[in-house]
Amino acid sequence: MIIVMQKDASKEQIDHVIDRIKQLGYTPHPIYGEQRTVVGAIGDERGKFRLESLASVPGVETVMPILKPYKLVGKELKTKPTVITIDGHTVGADEFMLIAGPCSVENRDQIITTAKAVKKAGAQYLRGGAFKPRTSPYSFQGLEEEGLKLLKEASDITGLKIVTEVITPTDVLLVAKYADILQIGARNMNNYALLKDLGKINKPVMLKRGMMATVQDFLMAAEYIASEGNPNIILCERGIRTFETATRNTLDLSAVPLLKSRTHLPVLVDPSHGTGIHDLVIPMSKAAVACGADGLLVEVHPNPEEAFSDGAQSLLPEEFDELVKELIKYLKLEGKKL
Ligand code: PEP
Ligand code: MN
Repeated sequence: MIIVMQKDASKEQIDHVIDRIKQLGYTPHPIYGEQRTVVGAIGDERGKFRLESLASVPGVETVMPILKPYKLVGKELKTKPTVITIDGHTVGADEFMLIAGPCSVENRDQIITTAKAVKKAGAQYLRGGAFKPRTSPYSFQGLEEEGLKLLKEASDITGLKIVTEVITPTDVLLVAKYADILQIGARNMNNYALLKDLGKINKPVMLKRGMMATVQDFLMAAEYIASEGNPNIILCERGIRTFETATRNTLDLSAVPLLKSRTHLPVLVDPSHGTGIHDLVIPMSKAAVACGADGLLVEVHPNPEEAFSDGAQSLLPEEFDELVKELIKYLKLEGKKL
């Protein structure tokens, strides 16, 4: 339910409503707007009629149901876009988020060379998997903590912030020690135990769309994180599985404006996993800017031919440089900057 306070409601009246929501067994989520405060009451749907009595409490204007199943990440309770600040950079406003780096952290030289190159080109974030969720148990599984340490070293050298994936609840605190943003990959979008654990940390989470997830499934996964108390969630469209086999996935760019109409969270696009084909990365990146994406995640490798994973979709550093130069023209049209 949403409890809409009157414009002139006092702090005491708002606090009283928050207390009453707690007493009724619900979790209050106050949003202090410029005009007025609204308080979301989230909890067991079956007893929501008890919250209706709050309509008679002084300072309350109306009490109404939240119709969408994704209560916290939807736009009914909070209409203003979520802007996440990470060490001076913002995501979700007019700064375009650029995450680049190899699929996997392979060795010191590879990650540091890549970090320097993508930083020079204009990226603000370095990606690289230290824990890899591979389709085959025989494929490279990642350097684990050693990989995290190498990412940290690359970050210390270049100033880039780190985005890296966590694949099990057991490793959440370890990854959070090194990462600025924790990634949940497509294969784990439905791992509810992991989503809940990431809801309890105080670092931003980048949630990738599952390859068989509808837009609603995707938003419900984000709701799991938000419902545990972490509002700093960045969504990433990375393509879905369709009957088309010419590309690795079908990059669903229509999901970007659709998501933006349904959620206040920032939305990124990953044209690398979205297509699986390196020649398609630049055109789809431009298209991502045009359809309103808040940023991009691009795989870059100094020697894609020898990459341990995803070489076919990785750009060379000089190609990434070209991508950024192209992108700047499109960003200008959209009123965004790097
Ligand atoms: C990745 O980002 O390297 C990755 C494994 O992506 P996805 O989860 O989208 O397949
Ligand atoms: Mn990859």
